[in-house]
Amino acid sequence: MIKRTIFTEDHELFRASVRKFVEQDLVPHHEKWEEACKVDREAWLKAGEAGLLCCDAPEEYGGSGADFLYNAVVIEELARAGITVHSDMMATYIASFGTEAQKKTWLPKMISGEVIGALAMTEPGAGSDLKAIRTTAVRHGDDYIINGQKVYISNGQNSDLLVVACKTNPAAGARGVSLILVEATRPGFKRGKNLKKIGLKAQDTSELFFDDVRVPASNLLGEENKGFSLLMTKLARERLTQAIRSIVVAEQAIQWTVDYTKERKAFDQTIGDFQNTRFKLAELATQTVAGRALVDQCIALFMKNELDPVDAAMAKLYACDLHVKTVDECLQFFGGYGYMLEYPIARAYIDARIVRIAGGAAEIMKQIIGKSLFGER
Ligand SMILES: Cc1cc2nc3c(=O)[nH]c(=O)nc-3n(C[C@H](O)[C@H](O)[C@H](O)COP(=O)(O)OP(=O)(O)OC[C@H]3O[C@@H](n4cnc5c(N)ncnc54)[C@H](O)[C@@H]3O)c2cc1C
Repeated sequence: MIKRTIFTEDHELFRASVRKFVEQDLVPHHEKWEEACKVDREAWLKAGEAGLLCCDAPEEYGGSGADFLYNAVVIEELARAGITVHSDMMATYIASFGTEAQKKTWLPKMISGEVIGALAMTEPGAGSDLKAIRTTAVRHGDDYIINGQKVYISNGQNSDLLVVACKTNPAAGARGVSLILVEATRPGFKRGKNLKKIGLKAQDTSELFFDDVRVPASNLLGEENKGFSLLMTKLARERLTQAIRSIVVAEQAIQWTVDYTKERKAFDQTIGDFQNTRFKLAELATQTVAGRALVDQCIALFMKNELDPVDAAMAKLYACDLHVKTVDECLQFFGGYGYMLEYPIARAYIDARIVRIAGGAAEIMKQIIGKSLFGER
């Protein structure tokens, strides 16, 4: 297989410590979290203590000032263990667009795991078409008053602080969207149900309600009515993050399948001896190596601040399609065992489906790529 070149020895040393932490401190509790439909707060604090949260946050706010490759290591090691948690997505909004006061107040607590963040964009009536959101933030003196509803918000139950996409100028479409920080303690903020999902059961995903929630105008993130472009900037990172996860899961699924089919026998030979098994795994492995090369190249571009949203969309589209296809085709080789949740391939299968929907559906990725082909951005 083509050797990866983006990581240094230091990143690999960090990877070894992250892998140990994930195996010792997270994996043994994962089933309990799946039953509770959320991760314990204690795990967030432990992850903070181990330096796994917001790795690239600046040192002056309590971070280690590391490069994004350290975040990538954490994302990969969690994905390898079948764990998906949105641990640094929201903090990057504060780090990139926050005022000095917002950074000082929130970043140290997010790095330590004391404060859990959520990014609330989607609404019951608007997901792919974000400019159609209806939650409003109306300026009253030195405050904003927020009214509306969000849905499918990751960390919705656990979150202490939310970045909420609101309309500050409802007549202006995408040019009327602002991002506002909302503390979960604000009167009028309510969490709805922790939604029951077909996969990613340990990740809490919720409805959220805002009923005359008053926040100071200083909670505005970035400039008023510029929220849409801030979201677009950060969505490239979110899409790259998902692509990183998806390639790891595809690699992992192929490895589980090789290991299993080497042992399992049928018709006096191993399942791995059938040419069909080898050909199918050879195809998947080749596509995964190609996907890995694309995603690593995107990581390298992101590190230089040169990752184009179109490249990020291509990486997400390719990696997520491959992820879903690989776990499905690999599961087939496990026969009935592949349908049993005690086998990681079964969990990977139910967790996979979301990757073609969340963070921008596959069709939205194609729309972005298609527009660029025709010179429209
Ligand atoms: C587990 C989970 C976690 C999530 N976490 C978050 C979160 O933390 N924060 C947040 O804000 N949101 C979150 N979401 C929401 C997620 O990003 C949206 O579900 C996603 O963007 C799709 O929006 P929608 O569900 O409204 O689907 P719709 O916009 O209604 O689209 C439905 C389908 O229509 C098709 N479609 C839509 N537009 C087009 C088009 N232009 N061309 C062709 N086909 C199209 C696609 O197939 C799409 O899947 C989460 C969702 C899930 C399920």
